[in-house]
Amino acid sequence: MVTPHEQATRVKVRDKFFRLYLQKEKIDEIVNGLAARIDQDYSGKTPLILGILNGAFIFASDLVRKLHIPCEISFVKYSSYHGLESSEEINRLIGLNEGIRGRDVIIVEDIVDTGFTMAQLLTDLKNHEPASLRIASFCFKTEAFRENFSIDYCGLEIPKLFVVGYGLDYDGAGRNFPDIYQLDESDV
Ligand code: 5GP
Repeated sequence: MVTPHEQATRVKVRDKFFRLYLQKEKIDEIVNGLAARIDQDYSGKTPLILGILNGAFIFASDLVRKLHIPCEISFVKYSSYHGLESSEEINRLIGLNEGIRGRDVIIVEDIVDTGFTMAQLLTDLKNHEPASLRIASFCFKTEAFRENFSIDYCGLEIPKLFVVGYGLDYDGAGRNFPDIYQLDESDV
């Protein structure tokens, strides 16, 4: 096990080994690029950045600190995922205390896999009539994607890997790694 600030090429999270996939320096570059695009697209506006807990807390906090436009930030929880496989059981949205009616909302998510969670979230949020609704997701598993919405601000397209770190967990652990690691199937 490594401490959060120590970079390792291989880590053990609970019962599984993971190997380094994306270093924090590269993550930083990607977030800078996304923030620059959002700055440009939302010039003169004050979007509401809506982070999806738990996974997006780190990406959302990095992203908002790189924005130059004024913005507000809030978090909602919409968890449906346990262990290594994405569950199709979708829970209700909690924590949407701020009115989003008439607001320019940017959903900030850690990862879009099949897209089921995000599709449900889009449906729920559209019922609240925001002025506009866009998606920023740090990772996007293009091969696993089964929906038809588009991701407006996509950090990184990845194959069907299971990844941890930078907010993403394996069974509640590994979220605090500054780098992203992929499941190392070789010695599971
Ligand atoms: P979807 O509904 O798009 O299939 O799954 C979305 C959720 O599944 C994400 O918000 C995340 O919580 C979880 N998830 C999907 N793929 C991964 C992954 O590779 N690693 C981790 N840690 N979580 C994942």
